[in-house]
Amino acid sequence: MLKISWDAGHAGFGVTPGKRALDNSMYEWDFNDGVVDYAMEALSHYENVEQLRVDDPSGRVDVPLTERANRVNQWGAHLHISVHGNAAAPSANGIETFVHPSASALNRDIALHIHNYVVNRTNRRNRGLKEADFQILRATNADSLLIEGGFMTNTEELALMKTNQYRATVGRAIADAIVTKFNLKRKNQYRATVGRAFADTIVTKFNLKRKNQAVIQPTNIIRYIDTGGYAGPALLEIHNYLVKTGHNYDTKRGRDGSILFLIGPFDTGMANYREATASISKFDSNMRILTREQAAEWRQ
Ligand SMILES: [Zn+2]
Repeated sequence: MLKISWDAGHAGFGVTPGKRALDNSMYEWDFNDGVVDYAMEALSHYENVEQLRVDDPSGRVDVPLTERANRVNQWGAHLHISVHGNAAAPSANGIETFVHPSASALNRDIALHIHNYVVNRTNRRNRGLKEADFQILRATNADSLLIEGGFMTNTEELALMKTNQYRATVGRAIADAIVTKFNLKRKNQYRATVGRAFADTIVTKFNLKRKNQAVIQPTNIIRYIDTGGYAGPALLEIHNYLVKTGHNYDTKRGRDGSILFLIGPFDTGMANYREATASISKFDSNMRILTREQAAEWRQ
């Protein structure tokens, strides 16, 4: 029996700060969830596989990493797969997969096999198999890997990541890689066909809608902190603040010499916006938080 545990990174519905597309049009969890869902569904048709999902499948609770790892370990998984969407500068794109620096040769071999399947099926850029001391990789006893299935910060990849088709491609690629790696045998085809036909009938009859990303109303997202050229210790404080509040960010220097933090969104209606505004004005009076419109203008 092969025991595979899964976790879709973070949670949806605005539960996890940051962790969404910069234009607020998709939570990272929606992508992660879709991929995990398709992968688990695909593997459910194979014999001698047991699967467990350790995040909250409803997306309402961001199960802490310690607890995710505990679930994996208590259940005694052989293989743990964590699915994420990436974020960086807008030009960054492609697929990368991580193993812990102390991962065994077998763990690396499995991860590379899965990674290559995902790259080949999606035809996205191969960023390679990498090492990182991520908590979920460090704390799980199973062979474990973390797949970043595309960049939410890249316009082209974000568009793909919003579709069920791309999520299915990634999820099924992971599943097929596991099938070939562990030489899994498909369950009785006839029963599976009857079962799926039955399920399809129910879907049609009751007009069921495939689970999909929550629709997020566009709001006045704050995407940039403009430091107005200030480059003192406050930059470190901003860094610490953004990390503490769970934001991914990148920095660049503007044409006027100002330093710009490109960050995962603040929502103007939310507490973190007010907190950020207060923190930033404390650093330096020249710093401003820009609205999306102002930032777009600034970037022209
Ligand atoms: Zn993530």
